[in-house]
Amino acid sequence: MTIFDPADGPQARGAAGWTAAGMLSPSAELECSDLQVFQDGLDSIKMWSEIVAALPGAPDFARHGSLLLAHRGDGGAARRLVDLIERKAPEPHRPRPLDAESLGELEPDVHGPSLAWFLPHEGAIDPTQLMPALYEGAKTADWRWSRTVKEVGTGFLVAGGLRHVFDHVFDVRGLGQRPAKGPAAGCMDVRGVRGEIFLVQNRNVRLARPVRLLHPRHRVYIVPRRDHHFVIGASEIESEDRSPVSLRTTVELLAAAHSVLPGLAEARIVHMETNLRPALRDNLPRIEQASGLTRINGLFRHGWMIAPAMAERAIIQAGIPFPSRGATAA
Ligand SMILES: Cc1cc2nc3c(=O)[nH]c(=O)nc-3n(C[C@H](O)[C@H](O)[C@H](O)COP(=O)(O)OP(=O)(O)OC[C@H]3O[C@@H](n4cnc5c(N)ncnc54)[C@H](O)[C@@H]3O)c2cc1C
Repeated sequence: MTIFDPADGPQARGAAGWTAAGMLSPSAELECSDLQVFQDGLDSIKMWSEIVAALPGAPDFARHGSLLLAHRGDGGAARRLVDLIERKAPEPHRPRPLDAESLGELEPDVHGPSLAWFLPHEGAIDPTQLMPALYEGAKTADWRWSRTVKEVGTGFLVAGGLRHVFDHVFDVRGLGQRPAKGPAAGCMDVRGVRGEIFLVQNRNVRLARPVRLLHPRHRVYIVPRRDHHFVIGASEIESEDRSPVSLRTTVELLAAAHSVLPGLAEARIVHMETNLRPALRDNLPRIEQASGLTRINGLFRHGWMIAPAMAERAIIQAGIPFPSRGATAA
């Protein structure tokens, strides 16, 4: 296997995948996805448990479920979203209402929201650990760093001024799939959706699982990471502006996060980042298959959540034998 990437090495953080919070939340994401994404999400959680176990460095992978939270005044908007998920998700994946005592048992440091629902089958990974681990697990592949692929066709690609011929090409360039001069025949009409995210740390705050605050104007989530770090995200703006995090997003996201986990008031902001989610017009992912060529794009908010299942389906559709589960790391 040969991999071409314009990044200058495995630690270069250009891909949206580096910025992602790492939530594996097929039920909660039914807000903006369909049943195929939901099923891919469930299947991928199972696959991640096998993949992660086979990777070096034991990257974090948690399956403690997730919580939907709302303040009393926002109950109407929150219930509309919960109803939507209930209509779309089959049992046992529907939100389970929690009373204050049960919420306190699950997450003692959460204070403020009076409405809570539990989604028991969700999980989370840490992309900043998985990216290097996936690279280590696939190190025997032929990695061609600093190589921008300019053109892809059936059984070939063009990079570094050379035409390279292969049995099969998988085009997974995200926004890089779009030609510089705009949409072209054979390419998906992909756009970037700006997302901003914060990494904060407070050793006195505990959180076992991702929580989402259902707010009428913005969606805010907090995802726990190793060593009392917390990811707070994320804006979703129809813009391809990659400039630094805005003041508006900072005020809105951090105030909302603090209203759920008051202990975050003394957290230190360790890092903030902006990136673009590759999305298609319907915000749904797509696999396009031709002889010698597979294009995958439009993973939008769900790349980590669905990547294993989508990759497996794409490989099978391409007629390439899929390695038996647990046989290889990546
Ligand atoms: C703020 C934020 C939060 C998110 N949170 C989550 C989350 O909690 N859970 C979740 O599942 N998803 C989340 N996502 C979405 C997830 O990051 C994306 O769906 C995923 O990264 C898309 O994967 P991709 O490989 O298509 O694109 P990318 O991750 O952008 O990767 C594209 C790759 O193609 C390479 N490339 C680009 N151009 C070329 C070229 N010309 N030639 C060769 N290679 C090229 C790039 O270097 C890169 O390696 C989030 C995204 C953002 C921005």
